[in-house]
Amino acid sequence: RIVYVNGEYLPEEEAKISIFDRGFLMADAVYEVASVLDGKLLDYAGHEARLARSLGELEIPMPASPEEILEIHRQLVTRNGVEEGAVYMQVTRGAADRDFAWTADMTPSLVLFTQAKAIVASPMAQRGSKVISLDDLRWHRRDIKTTQLLYASMAKMQAKAAGADDAWLVEDGKITEGTSNNAWIVTKDGVLVTRQLSNDLLAGITRASLMRYAAEAQISVEERAFTVEEAKGAAEAFVTSASAFVMPVVEIDGVKLGAGSPGPVATRLREIYVEESRRTAI
Ligand code: PLP
Repeated sequence: RIVYVNGEYLPEEEAKISIFDRGFLMADAVYEVASVLDGKLLDYAGHEARLARSLGELEIPMPASPEEILEIHRQLVTRNGVEEGAVYMQVTRGAADRDFAWTADMTPSLVLFTQAKAIVASPMAQRGSKVISLDDLRWHRRDIKTTQLLYASMAKMQAKAAGADDAWLVEDGKITEGTSNNAWIVTKDGVLVTRQLSNDLLAGITRASLMRYAAEAQISVEERAFTVEEAKGAAEAFVTSASAFVMPVVEIDGVKLGAGSPGPVATRLREIYVEESRRTAI
């Protein structure tokens, strides 16, 4: 695989980052994952805008121009022959002798690589995902897409140990989001419910796109927090992310939703998302 590191395209074995990079030492870094279908990038404008916002919140300078960053995405997709999969991009504050304080003159590091994988024909989309609820013990700036993913990884491991696929995180009795996705339920009246944006969760790019597609399909969306109990009593549930698109959730804490198989609304929304993404990919 050819990867990109700070201005160079290299075989992955030759790519190097300093041990003093604050991304490595302190998770002082942000990232984006843009999916690829038919060799094209999905929802790219959203990912580009969120990268700029995450960097702005942390006062990390943009490592390259938006045009250059798009070109690197395209080069990697082409050079690695990716038809379906993802491009991972990370920006760190850069390298300096270890100190909690940083200085404004640091040079950010930019790393990108591709991952080829089937997303549309996912076995999990056929059977549906099982989730467990867990305390949300992450920090309180979840609106910034940082590489500080340890609690999310621990929660995912706990879910797997419990025989589930993923965890929905709960704070003050309400679900914030999944470990790496936004959480949605479908009420018995067919209304989609997903938590309103704040510092408590990541503003998913897939979430935003799906909200537009739902509006076009005359499906109502309510942006509000919901409890685990409400979710267990919902007609359907699903999660959204760039890596999973729209993924039906069929079980919460061992309680089956509906028939315990992917529901019609989630299934339809997944189809709409794939169609619209193919149409708008760049
Ligand atoms: N929430 C969290 C915590 C995430 O890590 C992600 C994606 O990685 C999402 C939500 C979904 O965001 P997006 O749709 O932009 O992939």
